[in-house]
Amino acid sequence: KRLFNFCAGPAALPEAVLQTARDELTDWHGKGLSVMEMSHRSDEFVSIAEQAEQDLRDLLSIPSDYKVLFLQGGASQQFAQIPLNLLGEDGSADYIDTGIWSRKAIEEASRYGHINVAASAREYDYFAIPGQNEWQLSADAAYVHYTPNETIGGVEFNWIPEVGDKPLVADVSSDILSRPLDVSRFGLLYAGAQKNIGPSGLTVVIVRDDLLGKAHSKCPTMLDYSVAAQNGSMYNTPPTFAWYLSGLVFQWLKAQGGVEAMERINGAKQRKLYAAIDGSELYSNPINIADRSWMNIPFRLADDRLDKPFLVGAEERGLLNLKGHRSVGGMRASIYNAVPEAAVDALVAYMAEFEKQHG
Ligand code: PLP
Repeated sequence: KRLFNFCAGPAALPEAVLQTARDELTDWHGKGLSVMEMSHRSDEFVSIAEQAEQDLRDLLSIPSDYKVLFLQGGASQQFAQIPLNLLGEDGSADYIDTGIWSRKAIEEASRYGHINVAASAREYDYFAIPGQNEWQLSADAAYVHYTPNETIGGVEFNWIPEVGDKPLVADVSSDILSRPLDVSRFGLLYAGAQKNIGPSGLTVVIVRDDLLGKAHSKCPTMLDYSVAAQNGSMYNTPPTFAWYLSGLVFQWLKAQGGVEAMERINGAKQRKLYAAIDGSELYSNPINIADRSWMNIPFRLADDRLDKPFLVGAEERGLLNLKGHRSVGGMRASIYNAVPEAAVDALVAYMAEFEKQHG
């Protein structure tokens, strides 16, 4: 029996996708072998790969002057790969600090050039996003990097920064495909797959053509976006099974009505959960209301001695992985696309029941 999984990542996958993968596991489309056992250069796998790319392009209306790359190394590798590709030999870039993931990106990029932290949420204790009027962008930045959704802290931009003619670079690991996004506003988008795309092991990069071919002379071949682009993300063996499974998720998303439908469903899910938190005496979420994440909702109990009984009771009711990140404490409910509204309903009902007993 499948339970409700609120894990931040690797996260829940749509049950229908897992069922298709199971049905096709040992014999993909009557070919007598599994996807895991195919050459990545076979007609069969190339058709799987191309279909996945096309479906992602359709879902996000990705313009034709962008490449979609299916890479490895996780979003964390992008923290280095981005400056190696975009900073040039001695460049600088602007970064916005809104939490743990943007700080990791800043730290890594600082190894490759001058990084100007153009704005920081530190003065808001990372509970709010600094408005664009507080940003101090520099004239010579090669690009501007930000993290639209901070998976751990639970803040999310509900607006796209205006950065003039600079390429805007965004880590969309935990909010890609959760609602419509105007890709044309960005130079580069990247996401580790294991939240809203598919299983771990795959990283999706969407990059505008004019940003290719600028890699540092010492950039490893494997990390050069233009090499990946020229080779259809198959310069070496790609993570074939993760790519295939992500393709199934894209098809599932299309069948649900695409990102517009996800926006409606995710909107309803987050409204219900925040209403339950805000309407209670026991639970609280400290994030500035306009900056609250739709995907990752941290909340605390008024007395942290209740954390353990809360988690035990949740598990007894089939509500998994609600423990907050170790750096934040409390609880966190990650409610990505594959987490159904019924899961939020069950969580909200349990929270009310627990508050009645312990509040
Ligand atoms: N960026 C964000 C916003 C994340 O949520 C995560 C993972 O949780 C990462 C980066 C790191 O991703 P990976 O584990 O794929 O390197």
